[in-house]
Amino acid sequence: MENSAVTVAVRVRPFNAREKAEKALQVIFMNGQETTVQHPDSKQSYSFTYDFSFCSVDEFDPTFASQRTVYETLGKPLLLRAFEGFNTCLFAYGQTGSGKSYTMMGFGEEEGVIPRFCHELFCRLASMENEEVKCHVEMSFFEVYNEKIHDLLVTREEPNQRNMPLRVREHPVHGPYVADLSGWLKLGNKQRATAATGMNDKSSRSHSVFTLVMTQTQFVEGEEHEHSITSRINLVDLAGSERCNSAQTSGDRLREGASINKSLLTLGKVISALSDQALTRKKVFIPYRESVLTWLLKESLGGNSKTAMIATLSPAGSNVEESLSTLRYAQQARTIINVAKVNEDTSA
Ligand code: ADP
Ligand code: MG
Repeated sequence: MENSAVTVAVRVRPFNAREKAEKALQVIFMNGQETTVQHPDSKQSYSFTYDFSFCSVDEFDPTFASQRTVYETLGKPLLLRAFEGFNTCLFAYGQTGSGKSYTMMGFGEEEGVIPRFCHELFCRLASMENEEVKCHVEMSFFEVYNEKIHDLLVTREEPNQRNMPLRVREHPVHGPYVADLSGWLKLGNKQRATAATGMNDKSSRSHSVFTLVMTQTQFVEGEEHEHSITSRINLVDLAGSERCNSAQTSGDRLREGASINKSLLTLGKVISALSDQALTRKKVFIPYRESVLTWLLKESLGGNSKTAMIATLSPAGSNVEESLSTLRYAQQARTIINVAKVNEDTSA
């Protein structure tokens, strides 16, 4: 058993075309573990400390954080823990347009954490497998929208696919499993996008959850017991954080009611309760059951998992209030303590 705090990173994206056209002011600055916000109106400055900060504003800046840097710093340590048999989780939190999907999935050549994680996982598995060690991986990819789960790997042609087993024992570098997996990822992303068209900004309201369950089984000659370790890996791209900010949950409740995201709101409550619990060292009621997302991520939050969060930000002054709220949320998440243990099974 290992007590471990949730690892929290922040990332600020480049200015987008609109922000450039408006000659937007940069208000987020990073230096080592410190992130500073300079409020454009009040001129006040706010500082926060996280485990990692990734400044991706300007690719010519020597401290620029690339997709690779983010993967190596945040994704890879989780991969290593998964191989040891721990559950792991990474979730991306931030307002719509701040770079959650870019960070988790990426675009084109600029692959995000999920494809890099999968690629390395399969390369390692393929090179490990032999007579004594067998590996099995199952994947699922779904979204939570309006408190309902939609499987992103189900198509109209083949409606019953679920928990896809992925081939492991192919060639380590170019083997079919990579093709397999990227095919599934493409399908999942396409289904997410297709469903979004025509439905008002759906992707800002839905959470996507990509899960791998990896089992490594060891057979020892002459021994009748086999020994296996299993880890569940959750990689989560959350709905836009503006879906649970205070303006929508207090004053404008009636008018905006429909756009409040129950899962995101509950996630906030869960994080806040877990944070209280860690700070006061007293048992606090954690409302996991109040939403689909928190129920699914129960083990990842306050439970048996090595968990990391990446909070994504726009650099621009016009988004400063959302950015501050994201940074406060991230700060709270950093106080959560999980109790992780290796998932071992020894059976005859
Ligand atoms: P979100 O998923 O949080 O709504 P996206 O990931 O879709 O936001 O990002 C919004 C836009 O900004 C996209 O066009 C994306 O390509 C771009 N973007 C986000 N983060 C980065 C980054 N670190 N580097 C380059 N472009 C980025
Ligand atoms: Mg997105």
